[in-house]
Amino acid sequence: SPCADAVSADPARVLLADIWGFKDFRPGQEAIIRAVLGGEDVLAVMPTGSGKSLCYQLPALMRQGVTLVVSPLIALMRDQVAQLDALGVAAGALNSSIDMDGYRRVMDGLRGGRLKLLYVAPERLARPDTLSLLRDSGVTALAIDEAHCVSQWGHDFRPDYLCLGKVREDLGGVQTVAFTATADAATRDDIAGRLFPAPPRLFIGGFDRPNLRLAMRPKGDTRRRMFEFVAAHTGESGVIYCGSRARTEELAEGLRGAGHRALPYHAGLDKPVRDANQDAFLAEDGLVMVATVAFGMGIDKPDVRFVCHADMPRSIEAYYQEIGRAGRDGLAADTLTFYGLDDVRLHRMRIEESQAGDEQKRVEIQRLNALLALCEAPRCRRQTLLGYFGERTEPCGNCDLCINGVESFDGTIEAQKAMSAMLRTGQRFATEHLINILVGTQTDAITQYGHDKLPTFGVGKDHTRNVWRSIFRQISAGGLISLDIANHGRWLMTEAGRAVLRGQAGVALRSDVLEAAGRGERKDK
Ligand code: ADP
Ligand code: ZN
Repeated sequence: SPCADAVSADPARVLLADIWGFKDFRPGQEAIIRAVLGGEDVLAVMPTGSGKSLCYQLPALMRQGVTLVVSPLIALMRDQVAQLDALGVAAGALNSSIDMDGYRRVMDGLRGGRLKLLYVAPERLARPDTLSLLRDSGVTALAIDEAHCVSQWGHDFRPDYLCLGKVREDLGGVQTVAFTATADAATRDDIAGRLFPAPPRLFIGGFDRPNLRLAMRPKGDTRRRMFEFVAAHTGESGVIYCGSRARTEELAEGLRGAGHRALPYHAGLDKPVRDANQDAFLAEDGLVMVATVAFGMGIDKPDVRFVCHADMPRSIEAYYQEIGRAGRDGLAADTLTFYGLDDVRLHRMRIEESQAGDEQKRVEIQRLNALLALCEAPRCRRQTLLGYFGERTEPCGNCDLCINGVESFDGTIEAQKAMSAMLRTGQRFATEHLINILVGTQTDAITQYGHDKLPTFGVGKDHTRNVWRSIFRQISAGGLISLDIANHGRWLMTEAGRAVLRGQAGVALRSDVLEAAGRGERKDK
């Protein structure tokens, strides 16, 4: 039909079918590839396994010259070059593991103008001889893999990545496309600022895993509820993540006592035991692995039907990765996360006592708070979760909040008080200072800025500090304010927040969460 002809005539799709043998683009790929082919600078944030490589490999075949690919892992580079070789695409790599022969082949490919993709390790690019070689080699685009390595907010900062902005300039300001799987708003902005002279086209997508049911609940009667959850999945494979080694062993034993097949897994077990337990989980159906976060790296079992957190994870990134081990086969899978203010205190303490610098500690604390905000979210969890990654969606119908609703009250006045404290101080302050204003606590900073003279000073006396902390998290999870991690954790207003402040919209806050916050405070004292 004419329609089929039009589709098959699209050169990108022809290449997709002829070279890769793929029938169609994955969600997100096509829009990125169109932008890349249109010559735009692009920053794309997509989860691992979503097919980022194709987004620079395919356009590389459609343009003149060489696309330079920066990648931090030699093993990954080797795989990619081998795969491209097998597809008949001329690709090579420059890194410390290349021998003289490999080097000569790359040079020949460059000189003959045959090479389409050249993978280079970032430390190699820091060498002047590499740059002068590349300058004469007709590099027409720069693709940066694992782009979060350029950011100190990311979990994998690599100083060599800092030179990439300059590399781009040295190559004549070539088109640049950057990819990462991990980027909250602060990391994203940081990447964009370091790699691009002007804001790039931003693509964020593919984080939703609609087959995963999301649920979170405050601790309390935890063991009974957890055993109920496991019993509802009897005969299915699942993982229970625990915050400590001792707890994995204790819980596994308890579950066995309740008639389940359950094994512990943590880094303190002897390797033969650890391996045997892991093999059993992979081979058998209906086994519950009770594990620390040491479990799961590189484990690809498609039919894990449930994941439970017996203790609260340390960040949204960790939470997402861990629940993501369920339902890889695309079939329905169930998740349940227990959280408590004791978990939060424990994580805070670990962060404070860690070797990280002050700046990094601050970021880690804010990541922890973001997860707590998700736990306390007043609206669809998936909206809140995906919103954290920068993706917008409708309420999902497959999370505890969509299904059960929440006990909420009209918190418009509270939200307005919090946001007016933000506005009157120029949106330059973080939570604790704003709470000092709201509850009327005189500190040196309050006096110094004259914030005790503000009309908002003391207007929030009717709530405790902990309740206000929860209100800030809730209105942040609700999208009214957003955290500026890169600027000392100050709060900024969003459009939705302004509408509430003007009285054009209301806000529901969760009463259960505020009550729990109040109780937590009494315990603190
Ligand atoms: P990422 O870099 O995002 O982790 P990859 O680029 O390694 O992901 O791709 C993951 C897998 O998906 C690879 O095996 C790749 O061949 C496959 N893949 C990518 N795009 C498509 C597509 N359009 N159709 C089918 N498979 C694809
Ligand atoms: Zn939902």
